[in-house]
Amino acid sequence: MVLDGRIHLGSHGIAGEPGHIPVAMDGPRCDCGARGCLVCYAGPEAVLTAAGLGDALTRDGLESTLHRFATAASAADPAALAALDTAGRALGAGIVAITSLLDVDEIVLGGVLAQWYPHLYPAIDRELSQRRAIAPTIQLDITPALLGADAILLGAIEFARRAVLSDPATVPPVPGNAEAGLSQAN
Ligand SMILES: [Zn+2]
Repeated sequence: MVLDGRIHLGSHGIAGEPGHIPVAMDGPRCDCGARGCLVCYAGPEAVLTAAGLGDALTRDGLESTLHRFATAASAADPAALAALDTAGRALGAGIVAITSLLDVDEIVLGGVLAQWYPHLYPAIDRELSQRRAIAPTIQLDITPALLGADAILLGAIEFARRAVLSDPATVPPVPGNAEAGLSQAN
């Protein structure tokens, strides 16, 4: 979770796990042990299964089945669109929970959610419209991530680079490089 430009890990290192925000009290059991987590409705496996591709997922694997699902969604297959609508509703509920707690101004959808964004957004917006009735002036941007599968790696590099540039003296010398260690000590 990024707040005011800084990464927050939380007390137990599990801050920023929006996939496990509960969006349905009596929903299906999640791998985390709770019921009705967001990932049970908007995770790739959940969406593919809801679209009738559960057997294909087991047989052909995730990547191949995601490709088949994208083709079905582009062709307006009713089961694919219904699965995406359900995922969008669940995401809307999750985003309402996030904004209720943190009042952020932007939500970035990554991974397959970025690819599915055009199909997800209408249902997300419907859910958020109820929130807007409470706070009409709220300005919340829902955007697809632009960096694809490299996003996490690039974020980690940027995080490390910023730490080094903000205070180079905190960076320990490379182990085994005595000369560098001495010159730093001097
Ligand atoms: Zn969960």
